[in-house]
Amino acid sequence: MLEIDGLHAGYGEIEVLRGVDLVVNAGEIVALIGANGAGKSTLAKTLAGLLPTRLGRISFEGKPIEQVGAPQRIALGMAHVPEGRQIVGGLSVRDNLRLGAYAQRHRLAQREIAQRISAVCQQFPALDHRLGEPAGNLSGGQQQMLAIARAMMAQPRLLVLDEPSLGLAPTLVAGIFRMIVGLRNRGIAILLSEQNARMSLAIADRAYVMEMGRITLQGTGKELLDSSDVAGRYLGVGQKIAASATDERRMRLARGLKEILHG
Ligand code: ATP
Repeated sequence: MLEIDGLHAGYGEIEVLRGVDLVVNAGEIVALIGANGAGKSTLAKTLAGLLPTRLGRISFEGKPIEQVGAPQRIALGMAHVPEGRQIVGGLSVRDNLRLGAYAQRHRLAQREIAQRISAVCQQFPALDHRLGEPAGNLSGGQQQMLAIARAMMAQPRLLVLDEPSLGLAPTLVAGIFRMIVGLRNRGIAILLSEQNARMSLAIADRAYVMEMGRITLQGTGKELLDSSDVAGRYLGVGQKIAASATDERRMRLARGLKEILHG
């Protein structure tokens, strides 16, 4: 579905991505893990068309898209949920959702946009009774849900999720990961960039490790979860949470993970 070959991208003089190769097949969750500054968000922004491709190829469903603009990429079926959610707090939840269909506004009647809002509210029921409220009133977890729901308004076949668990309380994190598994189970392919390596590897079909703008390791989620290299360098986040958590919180986390894995 998505094939990235030798991708280079960056900011001004700074070359951040230095030859990234990565594939996402239909119906897969592919996790991208890596330390702060490895280049995960830069890859997400380049895929979304917010940063230019300097060198290399990106193809989506067999078509090259390096020269395709950001709105057209959404219209083709690729949506991006940016790091930090980028919700417009002063706009209503409904209007934030409408923004998700903006790239397709010329071919969608108001009635179809309203139908899409109803459909995403069925998937994200917590948003349904908040549609008229300013999005800024929502909690962090609900705003993340809104950011994903906004992307779903474009009815994508591939979602690029950038750090969806960032800044959320551990109890909400399990809910977000459960939601991501739910989206995959409905047939949406997902590229999931995360610092929470433990949880993302647990739900991923396949995964890549990024270091200094390059892919240095890849395998199934389970292979990387079991790898001592990955454990030493990237599973510390979960360990820190576990070490500092109360027993009750630890149990809730473990329960969340079990639910995600076994439904
Ligand atoms: P994080 O989890 O901290 O977001 P990341 O893996 O997503 O990490 P990026 O945000 O892609 O990393 O950053 C990669 C490098 O690019 C870092 O050195 C960062 O300082 C730099 N960078 C990011 N955004 C910009 C920008 N707008 N201008 C210049 N440099 C940037």
